[in-house]
Amino acid sequence: METSVFDRIRVNLLAKRHSLAEWLRSTPARTRQIRLGPTAEPALRAHLNKLDTAIAEIEEGTLGRCQVCHEYVDPELLEMDYTASVCLDHFSDDERRLLEADLELAQKVQKALLPQHAPTIPGLELAIFSRPAQIVGGDYFDFFHFADDSHGLAIADVAGHGMSASLLMASLQTALRTLVPTTDSPVEVLQHLNRFFVHNVHFTTFVTLFLACFDPATQTLTYGNAGHNPPLLYCRQENGGDSINWLQPTGAAIGLVEEFKIGTETATLAHGDILLLYTDGVTEAMNAGEDQFGRERLAALVHQAAELPAKELVQAIRQEVQAFTEGEALADDTTIVVAKVNGAG
Ligand SMILES: [Zn+2]
Repeated sequence: METSVFDRIRVNLLAKRHSLAEWLRSTPARTRQIRLGPTAEPALRAHLNKLDTAIAEIEEGTLGRCQVCHEYVDPELLEMDYTASVCLDHFSDDERRLLEADLELAQKVQKALLPQHAPTIPGLELAIFSRPAQIVGGDYFDFFHFADDSHGLAIADVAGHGMSASLLMASLQTALRTLVPTTDSPVEVLQHLNRFFVHNVHFTTFVTLFLACFDPATQTLTYGNAGHNPPLLYCRQENGGDSINWLQPTGAAIGLVEEFKIGTETATLAHGDILLLYTDGVTEAMNAGEDQFGRERLAALVHQAAELPAKELVQAIRQEVQAFTEGEALADDTTIVVAKVNGAG
């Protein structure tokens, strides 16, 4: 199995171990008792031991080795259960069906949250690509209608990966889909979201979120950027040149700070302009020398490929990132949304 899969599992196991141990260390005895209910504390110690064993096995290269055929089990199986030690093939039909159903469920839960196709927005040509680094991820993008029927575009990145990040993403989606149709203002939505999440005990991390509203009649883009990687706006100039603008954050990430202040920005778009939304899986993609793909490479590529249809531009970005990382597996969830202005309003 590729070492990068194990690197990723190792990082997650260490994080899991750290947070469990930290909880155990810092939580008062009475609270610990409530959290554990009728279960005795040794059961939690046993969980920590299991993690330690798995981490040690990764170092030895024995984690995920099948007890029957001694090959490595399917990485997806191992990511769902790091104690997996028998290939699906060796199970009885009934057992295998159960496991396969679990794997399928994990993938479905994730997929159901993200739009499967780009919607039709008059005046824009849209293309999307999104792939989680694990079976489930923490990237989110979506399309909405604001109260005045203008078109909403969102891209978000929940800190962390895997199942817990994707559950937070699910509640973010519900909140956005509830809030957006009630207002014309992206920033109002962002403010409301922060109020809602900042002191919520279940919201254990923060979310970067870029939320924009596009009015096809005026070709105006109004947006707020809550700590998300600056989207790229490529604009053509009248003299035949072009310019690249980065839509910098106008406020902090959702759930990160106590005093949340966020500004609104607007941009007027013209035929041929390109709005590129992405998550850090693109710009922070790393090659073997640990260089990051970076924003400059992304800008140079868009400049070069600005004439391509949206779909082909997404394709070109994926290929360039892949060539850069020389086939290193994705370390982070990766999402790309390209919106190209095609004039007719
Ligand atoms: Zn096997």
